[in-house]
Amino acid sequence: MNKTDTKAQQQPRYSGIPTFMRVPAVHDLSQIDIAIAGVPYDGGVSARSGARYGPREIRSMSSMTRAIHHVTRFNPFAACRVGDIGDVPFTDLFNIERAHDDIRAFFEPVFAAGKQALIAGGDHSITFPVLQALAPPEPIGLVHIDAHTDTWDYFIGSKFTHGSPFRRAVEAGLIDPKKTIQIGIRGAQNSDEGWRYSLDSGMRVVFIEEFSELGVEAVVAEARKLIGGGPAYLSFDVDGLDPVYAPGTGTPEIGGITTREALQLLRGLDGLDFVAADVVEVAPPYDPSGNTALVAATLMYESLCLLARRHATHKASSA
Ligand code: MN
Ligand code: MN
Repeated sequence: MNKTDTKAQQQPRYSGIPTFMRVPAVHDLSQIDIAIAGVPYDGGVSARSGARYGPREIRSMSSMTRAIHHVTRFNPFAACRVGDIGDVPFTDLFNIERAHDDIRAFFEPVFAAGKQALIAGGDHSITFPVLQALAPPEPIGLVHIDAHTDTWDYFIGSKFTHGSPFRRAVEAGLIDPKKTIQIGIRGAQNSDEGWRYSLDSGMRVVFIEEFSELGVEAVVAEARKLIGGGPAYLSFDVDGLDPVYAPGTGTPEIGGITTREALQLLRGLDGLDFVAADVVEVAPPYDPSGNTALVAATLMYESLCLLARRHATHKASSA
C-alpha cells in the first residue's frame, strides 16, 4: 500500500496537471513527509538566464518518472507521503535580497514542521535562502556537485549571486566547510578567489581530473567519511554534468561528469542523513530536446530515494 496517493501515476503519463513525478499537489503540510517544490528564479545568474523555466520543464519531464528503483527495488512513494507544494511565490522579484526573503519565507514552515524538501531551481543562488530556512542549530554537511565551487564573494556589486551561496552559507554558520565536499569542479576563471576560499576554509574540492583519477567509488567513500552520521544537504548543479548530457544550463563547462557516474555517485550516498536536496541551474531555453529537464527529473528521483530512505530509517529507529 503506497503512502503517497499514486492514482495519477496509474493514468497515462502525458495526462493530468503536471506536478513533480505526478504526486498530488498538496497545500496542507501535515499530509506529507517530503515536500517537492519549485523555485522559478534566476535573478542571480552571472551569464545566460533561463533557469526560471526550470521547475515547469522538470515537472513536465518528470511525468516520465516511475516508482520502483531498478537497483534497490525501493519505492519512495510507498515509504513516504510525497507531495508537490508548488512554486515559491514572489512579492519582490527584481531585488535579489528581497526575492531570497520570499524563498526563505516559503521554506521556513516546511522545515519548521520537520519535513524534508526536494527542490528544483532556479539558479544556484536559491540554495542560500533554503539553507537559511533550514536554520540548522549546528552547521551541517554538504555534498555539492557542480563545475563551480560557488564560493565567490561579490559579483558586480552583489554578494548573493549564483556564484556565492556556499560562501554565504559558511559565513552564516549554516554549513560546515570541513564537512563539505565539492565534486566535478572545472573550467577557467578570471579570479581564483572561489577555489581559494573553498580550499582555505577546509572544504574537500574534487576537481574533475581527480574525480577521473580516483573513480566514483573512491569519491563516494570520501564523501561518506566526511559527512559521517550527521545531517547534510545535497546540492546538484546540472552544470556539474558534461554539457553533452545537460546542455540546458547557463554556464556550461565541457569535460564534466557523465549521467552514469552521477547516478552511481548519488546511489553511493544512500544512508546519509540528508535533510533536503536540490537540483539547480536547469535552463530549458538552451536545450530544445528537453533532455536536460529529463536528466534533472531523474536526478530528483534518485535524490527523492535518498530522502525517503532517510525518512523510513528515522521512523523505524524512533518507533
Ligand atoms: Mn552552482
Ligand atoms: Mn555551476
